[in-house]
Amino acid sequence: MFGAHGKILHVNLSTSQLSIEQPGEDFYRTYMGGSALGLTYLLKSSAHLHDPLEAENLLTISLSILTGMPISGQSRVTITARSPLTNAIGDSQAGGYFPAELKFSGYDAIILQGKAEKPVYLWVHDGEAEIRDATHLWGKNTADCEDTIRAELMDNKIEVLQIGPAGENKVRFASIMNKTSRANGRTGMGAVMGSKNLKAIAVRGSLKPPIFNGELLKQLSRKGAEQFPHSNILGLGLYGTAGSMGWQIEAGGLPTKNWNSGFFDKWEEISGQTMAKTILKRRETCYACVVRCKRVVEIENHNLPVSPRYGGPEYETLACFGSYCGNSDLAAISYMNQLCNMYGMDTISCGATIAWAMDCYENGIFTQKDLDGLDLRYGNSEAMIQLTHKIAKREGIGGLLAEGSARAAERLGRGSSELVVTVKNQELPAHMPQVKSSVGLIYAVNPFGADHQSHEHDPSYRAFPERMAELGLNSPQPDLVLNREKVEYALTTQYAYSALDSLNLCQFVFGPAWQLYSMSDLVQLVNAVTGWDISIGELLTVGRRRLNLMREFNQRCGFTRQDDILPQKLFKPLSGGVSDGLSIDEQEVEKAKDIYYQLAGWDISTGNPTPSTLAELGLDWILSSDYR
Ligand code: SF4
Repeated sequence: MFGAHGKILHVNLSTSQLSIEQPGEDFYRTYMGGSALGLTYLLKSSAHLHDPLEAENLLTISLSILTGMPISGQSRVTITARSPLTNAIGDSQAGGYFPAELKFSGYDAIILQGKAEKPVYLWVHDGEAEIRDATHLWGKNTADCEDTIRAELMDNKIEVLQIGPAGENKVRFASIMNKTSRANGRTGMGAVMGSKNLKAIAVRGSLKPPIFNGELLKQLSRKGAEQFPHSNILGLGLYGTAGSMGWQIEAGGLPTKNWNSGFFDKWEEISGQTMAKTILKRRETCYACVVRCKRVVEIENHNLPVSPRYGGPEYETLACFGSYCGNSDLAAISYMNQLCNMYGMDTISCGATIAWAMDCYENGIFTQKDLDGLDLRYGNSEAMIQLTHKIAKREGIGGLLAEGSARAAERLGRGSSELVVTVKNQELPAHMPQVKSSVGLIYAVNPFGADHQSHEHDPSYRAFPERMAELGLNSPQPDLVLNREKVEYALTTQYAYSALDSLNLCQFVFGPAWQLYSMSDLVQLVNAVTGWDISIGELLTVGRRRLNLMREFNQRCGFTRQDDILPQKLFKPLSGGVSDGLSIDEQEVEKAKDIYYQLAGWDISTGNPTPSTLAELGLDWILSSDYR
């Protein structure tokens, strides 16, 4: 086999048993990696019958057939489990050097089950694996934990995937960190790792799987490097994801004051351009990537010192701790980014949950007494910082907010649920469906809650007609339309993004529209690495298969069409900026869902996969009584 080791490491933390499975090439061609691979194990487990924080949940850590190859955008890892935030399937990707190093350690994936009696960490190196005591690491922040592991294993180049104190405390949106600045942030995978008493996974190795056509791979790699300075993503390298803030403002799409508006008058104070001029120390990259989009910021001689060790804020972080909360203090946002990376928490859910609490405070639902004395008016960054510490430690009011905004509102009552902005309990990222209609549909139907990287947003249909034609999409539509053609666009590009996630690829480098490499380039790459003869159609089927696996898992957890709903707040008109007065039409979304389920081959009344669709995708094994 080319591209993969053909080895999956199974770890039973309850019994300390380790074993190696060697699936055949067919398995890799069918699922390719990522959460598609992880789901094949979750669907054979009893995870859906248990609370996500019980030992029966599986935590799957998957690479793909392309991870570790010498080309931009491939060093990513997907972590999947039943989510403690959504109770549905959880799914989260991160880049860095850990993914490539895990591949070089000799494995394509690690499947973790059970719960260790006391804190442990896993050490994987050149095909070997062992479980080690982590009692001395428990309670440490991410930088201290990484330093301690590297020192005791006497190798400074070891890559560490780990939870911080927030994961240990089972904050429902705890992340899993690598490089102390790269987060598997969404859906609370850190809390699942914490519930297993697993503090970290350390990896190091020199085992590289064979490549079918190394010369063609080299050519493709060179082509990307040569095109990058003239490409659509040059600005991403210069200003990071935060460079997009100006476009969001132009469209009226920067969520502000807990989604009451799409316009933040102080946006320039927190933009990527301002960051580059003031606190940016350097740019960083993921293994073998020419783009170098990651920010590293430093603030010295300040009451809020920020260390380069914890990277720098992305667009989502700047929005969630910034405009969501009416806060334009860049130093304070960078400090809260540091806290989240140090404690191991998702910056989107953390910032958005604080924004919800601020909205409650401004509306008299929360009093200062409820909030341990904090004056949580919009823009009070000092109070936000204190709250971030409290959430990670589950101290006082932080214990309630560590549950996420939807659960917190359910417990609080007092009408606070009307102010919640979540889908399936997951807080919305900073892309507004009020100004790009298909985003609302995909937020609603996405199996792991609202996600902005699960399909191509509306403006790309008109902006990149040649690339869209590769997917059979030939009828560009305006951004604010949600007709049949737009639904088809949303679903088809969702399959494409789902394939990218199965291949664990960075969506800034590979994709169907504005990215450095097109879908046809990707076909060439997969074939060069593996020696297969796949087409764009086969890649879309891989993506479709992953979505069906996820929906099937959710069906077992009791999810139906009734859970594919947008928050009430989106149906109320926005105020201010160019999106003033815009809102989502609930009936239009319901009609779009009918079309979407029909096109997906799912039951319109339940929104779940039908047996014939599963069979068409080669997933009929799911229906076997052995796996139900
Ligand atoms: S574009 Fe940025 S996030 Fe993506 S692989 Fe390159 S450096 Fe990493």
